[in-house]
Amino acid sequence: MAYDFDLFVIGGGSAGVRCARISAGHGARVGVAEERFWGGTCVNVGCVPKKIMVNATEYGQWAEDAAAFGWDLEVKGHDWARLAEARNREVARLSGIYGKLLAGNGVTTFDARAKFLDAHTLQVGEQRVTAERILIATGGTPQRLEIPGAELGLISDDLFTLKALPKRVVVIGAGYIALEFACILRGLGAEVDVMYRAALPLRGFDDDIRTAVVEALQGQGMRLNPDVSPTRITQVNGHLMVAMSNNFMREADAVFFCTGRSPNTAGLGLEEAGVETNASGAVVVDEDHRTSQAHIYALGDVIDRVNLTPMATATGHALADTLFGNKPRKASYDDVPTAVFTNPPIGTVGLSEAEAAARGPVDVYVTRFTPMRHTISGRQGRRTLMKLVVCQKTDKVLGAHMLGEDAAEIMQGIGIAVRMGATKADFDRTIGIHPTAAEEFVTLRTRAREAGVQPPSQQAAE
Ligand code: NDP
Repeated sequence: MAYDFDLFVIGGGSAGVRCARISAGHGARVGVAEERFWGGTCVNVGCVPKKIMVNATEYGQWAEDAAAFGWDLEVKGHDWARLAEARNREVARLSGIYGKLLAGNGVTTFDARAKFLDAHTLQVGEQRVTAERILIATGGTPQRLEIPGAELGLISDDLFTLKALPKRVVVIGAGYIALEFACILRGLGAEVDVMYRAALPLRGFDDDIRTAVVEALQGQGMRLNPDVSPTRITQVNGHLMVAMSNNFMREADAVFFCTGRSPNTAGLGLEEAGVETNASGAVVVDEDHRTSQAHIYALGDVIDRVNLTPMATATGHALADTLFGNKPRKASYDDVPTAVFTNPPIGTVGLSEAEAAARGPVDVYVTRFTPMRHTISGRQGRRTLMKLVVCQKTDKVLGAHMLGEDAAEIMQGIGIAVRMGATKADFDRTIGIHPTAAEEFVTLRTRAREAGVQPPSQQAAE
């Protein structure tokens, strides 16, 4: 049977666009449907507009700190509307580039929702199309908690349509989005409460980073509320009241639910196509990103694996090369460097101390210091933490973690070293760049502790 397309991609985000573009470059006939905005979450309501707002907070701090370096600046305040206009212009520019990239590579684009009619047929807006292979790359959507009054709360998309800075904000959750949003809103002048159910923020990150980020957030005047969940939101005299499980209340002008994202699989007709999902709605795939139908693939946040843009683009590119480029390959999910754009940011790659110690004995190297800039500025909450987790047996660096200025930029290079299997001795014989914070990663000489070494009797008891 002749199909309309060799590949049809549902979703014009990071994974879908990359896979479509590269597949078309390899000569495939490719169609892509996008119902909302080209570029997906990253470009439109995620990484890009978020980072612009993070940058905005940095200027405010530099302007304040400049006095200590002899500058006489007058800061009259921040204009939210001007920032929003600049941010939206850049987002529109990038979203347009995504559309043009596809057209330039001969991809047929559809500004429409796609839905499976059967395993090879899709309803795309008013049209019916067939495809030999189909890629599901529909991403995810932020979730509110199911509590009374949840509809009064905002989700992350809403930050980018707010007309003004809310004066008092409650952020619910303590993952990537929660902490980044808390820092943006605080950095632009809001009073911020962060409310989370665990004892420390950022579950899954190294415990030293989790502890250090608490100090950093408190240092900039945020109120942290660990070990609680919100139980109800009500509207009182034009304000919101958030009731907490510890019976305390918080008054706020805006409440953000930053409590995770769910895969966009509802209403896609996956049952008609015979594509399986798991209990959280994510499409189930094998290591080649094949779904339960061998010719249907899924990538990006909709598979809920490593929900990061560069992972989506890397896997999308690899799939295109495999299917149409005669270059079968996989993008590895191991040692993926990542950053949380808090203030200061966090950068991390590889295993946390706890993860590494569960696999065997490790040596831990840690340093904490105030960056030179802030010994001058006197700004609080800016202490840097840097940490290496090293395998005792092989001397390999299993994990590198940093909270501090430029952590995201520094960790990209460290990520290459960790990925290549660099040893602590390799780090040690690398000459530092002076004076930088980054040089501390190659001058960590004193072992802070040994972890993961337990007598056999204790292991048996656990
Ligand atoms: P995360 O999984 O990072 O955080 C979700 C937060 O919500 C956690 O603190 C979690 O708590 C909390 N939560 C979940 N369910 C409940 C509940 N029922 N009651 C109370 N609290 C709850 O998700 P995000 O939405 O912040 O981000 C989604 C993903 O997007 C990230 O995992 C990341 O992969 C990606 N991302 C990456 C960024 C970057 O690269 N800088 C920036 C933003 C997002 P608990 O930990 O206790 O479960």
